[in-house]
Amino acid sequence: MEYIMDVIFFIMGAFFGSFFTLAVYRIPLKKDITHEHSYCPNCNHKLAILDLIPIFSYIFLRGKCRYCKQKIRIRYFLLEILSGIVFLLYAKSFSINWNYIFTEKTVLLMLGLLYFCALFIIAGIDKEKKQIQKSVLGYGLIIDMIYIIYVCVFEQKNIYGYVIYLILMTLFVLIDTCILKRKLDTNYTIQILELLVIIAIFSGEIISYYTILFTLIWIAITCLINCIKRKKNKVVQKQEKIKLPIGYYLCVINIIFLIINNFLIY
Ligand SMILES: [Zn+2]
Repeated sequence: MEYIMDVIFFIMGAFFGSFFTLAVYRIPLKKDITHEHSYCPNCNHKLAILDLIPIFSYIFLRGKCRYCKQKIRIRYFLLEILSGIVFLLYAKSFSINWNYIFTEKTVLLMLGLLYFCALFIIAGIDKEKKQIQKSVLGYGLIIDMIYIIYVCVFEQKNIYGYVIYLILMTLFVLIDTCILKRKLDTNYTIQILELLVIIAIFSGEIISYYTILFTLIWIAITCLINCIKRKKNKVVQKQEKIKLPIGYYLCVINIIFLIINNFLIY
């Protein structure tokens, strides 16, 4: 019986993974993500249900569009598997079983998965386009609010600890919308700070601390590798500004630490 639950969470994750691909593609283009039908980006043919089964469709179609035979990037297939594994591991980390399924742990698990959705989409868009979308940050903040209400009502946590985060968030959003509206480039920094607040509310101080620490290590290593690569090439180019997807690093590391932390607690 235990395996059935594992399978359910893996399938759920795989379906969400295929949704993330769609969201990462459509949100920056300001396209609808819930009502509009899925279609092939190459030939614009509407996709049938058989083309939309996560993981399996890719295998059966041998990685090609059924209609125009255009290759589908293997990245989508891998993302569906990865997302399935993340959902499965996160569910396992709560060590929930069928006998005690209606407990506070299950509520926290569901909230966590909804929070992961925000992180997955933010990470995807940041990695592809080096930008962070306000609408997804807004969604993350809504999940945070539900989380705050939950822990304050059911776990009697002190709400004042969260008030400071919310004040900070309000401040960042104000700066983001009022002052920096014209200079698009600088908005990225503010949006990273907004993302940090969202992470801090959901993960608590210790996990946030590790998330930031390991993000800094990742940035340092990436810069070092870039530096070595440049010297090897010996091409004296204009000092091109390399923009790092910091939001992507933060999200990936945060997910890893939330899972590890749960395994240690439960
Ligand atoms: Zn096609």
